[in-house]
Amino acid sequence: MSDAVAEPKRGGSEPQQATAGLHVVATPIGNLGDISARAVETLRSADIIACEDSRVTGKLLKAYDITTKTKPYHDHNADAVRPWLIKQIQQGKSVALVSDAGTPLVSDPGYKLVRAAIDSDLPVTALPGPMAAVTALVLSGLPTDRFLFAGFLPTKAAARRSTLTDLAAVPATLIFYESARRLGASLGDMAAILGPRQAAVARELTKLFEQVVRGSLVALQERYAENRPKGEIVIVVAPPGAEAETVSEAALEAMLREALAAHSLRDAAAAVAAATGQPRRRIYEIALRLRDA
Ligand code: SAM
Repeated sequence: MSDAVAEPKRGGSEPQQATAGLHVVATPIGNLGDISARAVETLRSADIIACEDSRVTGKLLKAYDITTKTKPYHDHNADAVRPWLIKQIQQGKSVALVSDAGTPLVSDPGYKLVRAAIDSDLPVTALPGPMAAVTALVLSGLPTDRFLFAGFLPTKAAARRSTLTDLAAVPATLIFYESARRLGASLGDMAAILGPRQAAVARELTKLFEQVVRGSLVALQERYAENRPKGEIVIVVAPPGAEAETVSEAALEAMLREALAAHSLRDAAAAVAAATGQPRRRIYEIALRLRDA
């Protein structure tokens, strides 16, 4: 294996024709407009597009009048198709790799193909673009200086809890992909294991019904326990100990004023503490101050 960085010709600001090699191309996660000019040109000029599902990628190609032939490359045929793709590149072809949505290799196929191309000293490049995890992170309102992408949690409860226990002390914002079906169960385990942290549930990003619901894990768990939402979901969870930074005094006062209008001081403080994950004592003190003022 060579240490040299092998790369297809690139540079400048013009989209270029795909050269021989493997081109990992990010595609939209919903809004078909979210694709770079360079990505379109690469898909158009590549010899082959390796894709998860030809029907899904076909819609994108049709929208951009791209007629390049596609070759399915997914978890079930990857071991058989990978050597063929590598052979095509060795023969001087350009292969573009896409997944159904977003950045290939991110909870999607592609890692072994990239590894195989590197091991064969073939040129590999990436065309960056949409990724649901980062899109959710920037909308979450949670710290972005350090984050850990945890992908999908295990579907079985015991394994899921064990994974969350491993992650509980990680000093970073955590990002998870989750299905709508398991959202309630996962939020329940997160609330129990990760503690009173702020979080966000980002749904249908870049699509017509995009929605980001922010609140404490407890409040989100209550919201989604019975009410299963539709669509694709990312969960973002604040780092441990970040509670005080993520809910400002002004925001707490506004929530408390609203709660105090309808509830006793004790109930209002309890409700705001549950909704924000802030220590009850801090909330109670602010509530007392508001009442006395
Ligand atoms: N490779 C993709 C990426 O770059 O984000 C992710 C592929 S993974 C198989 C699919 C998961 O990503 C979905 O189950 C959901 O958790 C998340 N996801 C994808 N698109 C999304 C969207 N538009 N809004 C929210 N979550 C999305």
